[in-house]
Amino acid sequence: MIIVLKSGASDADVADVEGRIRAMGYTPHTIHGELRNVIGAIGDDRGKERLRSLASLECVESVTPILQPFKLASREVKRGNTQVRVGNVVVGGREIVVMAGPCSVESRFQVLDVAHRVKAAGARVLRGGAFKPRTSPYAFQGLEEEGLKLLAEARRETGLPVITEVMEPDKVDVVAEHSDILQIGARNVQNFSLLRRVGEAGKPVLLKRGMSTSIQEWLLSAEYVLAGGNPNVILCERGIRTFETATRFTLDLNAVPVLKKLTHLPVVVDPSHGTGHWEYVESMAMAAVAAGADGLLIEVHPKPEEALSDGPQSLKPDKFAALMGRVRKIALAVDRDL
Ligand code: PEP
Ligand code: MN
Repeated sequence: MIIVLKSGASDADVADVEGRIRAMGYTPHTIHGELRNVIGAIGDDRGKERLRSLASLECVESVTPILQPFKLASREVKRGNTQVRVGNVVVGGREIVVMAGPCSVESRFQVLDVAHRVKAAGARVLRGGAFKPRTSPYAFQGLEEEGLKLLAEARRETGLPVITEVMEPDKVDVVAEHSDILQIGARNVQNFSLLRRVGEAGKPVLLKRGMSTSIQEWLLSAEYVLAGGNPNVILCERGIRTFETATRFTLDLNAVPVLKKLTHLPVVVDPSHGTGHWEYVESMAMAAVAAGADGLLIEVHPKPEEALSDGPQSLKPDKFAALMGRVRKIALAVDRDL
């Protein structure tokens, strides 16, 4: 922490603040300036609020942290990139890992058909929702455990690892039994009991950004999973709420280079939810890879016009294959494989 004293602060004030810093277990390091004094409190104060309270002293101008509040997620703690291994797929290495499939698992035919087609186009992971977080309680809520079994069958048939969302702590075991990656949805990014629970699950976690979550809050959510003993966390930018209504959300591609600076965790981008319209998905997928994303999460449906959820943003399989061809060119241009 850096504690800046007000310009009129006396030597007695400096000594008082130094004494308080020592009493809290930190070492004060004072820089005497011409106009004001600045005290560095040396010691790891992440997650602790005590030094911040010094801001309430009359003689103190400001108290500012110098370390990021997240620790295990931070590049200050781990310099090299984390690579998350799922079967023979590595997220966070040289390869751009594309995860594709329907928003919701709707039937055996639908999920198997789409699984074969996204695999043929180069997807490395099959996505599909079995437990669906729907804004309306009257909307299709997913096939639940039946959906998990269909995903597992699609994995057996295609060899593709699968990712699906888990919404409740009580369901973590059953989802982990059938899925290779546990997806935490945007609406659950700050469901701390769920985050703690997936921290113990022993399966990689894909943590979506909440629609109103700052990057710092998001990384603190990742910290819950990491601190629970699970080092395999993938971050997924999926768009945030802004004043713009032309698209469903505003895909924050700034987040990609910002995250690359702040954290060693791999970053995936979801242009399907990020835009909400299938026509914009390819452009934003290419932009995401150009910006440094490690992977993409894309909704593909054999008949988007009949989809039970997110049809307007779902690509038909042939459109997805065309997207893969164009994204591959961008990947090669930025020294990645696809
Ligand atoms: C999804 O992946 O289908 C989904 C519900 O995503 P999000 O949590 O980002 O809205
Ligand atoms: Mn969806």
